[in-house]
Amino acid sequence: RVLVVGSVNADVTVRAPRIPTPGETVLGEEAHVSPGGKGANQAVAAALAGATVSLCGGVGQDTFRDPALAGLKRAGVGLTHLHTLDAPIGLALITVAAGGENAITVASGANARVTPAHLPADLTGFTHLLLQGELPLEVTRDAARRARAAGLTVLHNAAPARAPDPDLLAHTHHLIVNEHELAAFGGGEAAPEAQASALLARGPRAVTVTLGARGSLTVTPDATYHLPAFPVTPVDTTGAGDTFCGVLTAWLAAGQPLPEALGAAGVAAALACTRPGAQDAMPDRGAIAAALAS
Ligand code: ADP
Repeated sequence: RVLVVGSVNADVTVRAPRIPTPGETVLGEEAHVSPGGKGANQAVAAALAGATVSLCGGVGQDTFRDPALAGLKRAGVGLTHLHTLDAPIGLALITVAAGGENAITVASGANARVTPAHLPADLTGFTHLLLQGELPLEVTRDAARRARAAGLTVLHNAAPARAPDPDLLAHTHHLIVNEHELAAFGGGEAAPEAQASALLARGPRAVTVTLGARGSLTVTPDATYHLPAFPVTPVDTTGAGDTFCGVLTAWLAAGQPLPEALGAAGVAAALACTRPGAQDAMPDRGAIAAALAS
């Protein structure tokens, strides 16, 4: 069983001719509201891949609650540790320009009100904990520390990019970063493989760097795995990293060896690039199995 401790947002997206400059108003098309937040996205990806998943976090009691929770409910994610707090639900306000570039403002809302007291008192029954960087650091750090003490495997997707917290890193078994996030870890100009290897000395027993259309790289003390990307024609890469993390965790929780889990995560993340949206684009276990067999 997988516990995800992370963020829940509603994403409000508007396509516009361009990103407004400071002080400017730009007229766009109609807004689309879709479920998001890295915690919710990764919980959905893991559940669709077949894992039994619970999400711990905070939401508000406002008009964006139902659209934010729709994907979690559809995927069967357990919500008994999702707390309704006295704050509006997290919102990501996304402007997508005609050229495809975007500008995002996140209103953390209820996500920022989550405290260590909201973590499950009893971790019995959970085998894997999956964390990201969108909740207050003290919550993420406490979750990692408690999970480690309870014998869970701790996976941590250090997104969005920021300098690492040494304590959190020390309690992480498997760190997952993209190239941008890896750079925030301060490895300088060294090659990704060397930077990832150096991080092994700071706590994790595995470090994965996702490389977009170039696949992924994973180092452990015993081996290095270079996995090419599964070839697809990408339509929208939103949620690729979240799909990768969720499916990797689901496969490890199912007892699969690391190379197989990395392969499934890469295939699932590629499939998520072939459809627009984040949670709406994520493949289920049947689609992952079919692509793996192709
Ligand atoms: P993020 O979404 O966090 O920026 P990446 O861009 O590294 O992370 O993508 C995460 C994973 O998604 C990659 O490791 C790869 O497996 C898959 N992926 C991303 N872009 C593509 C692509 N164009 N084609 C195939 N797979 C992709």
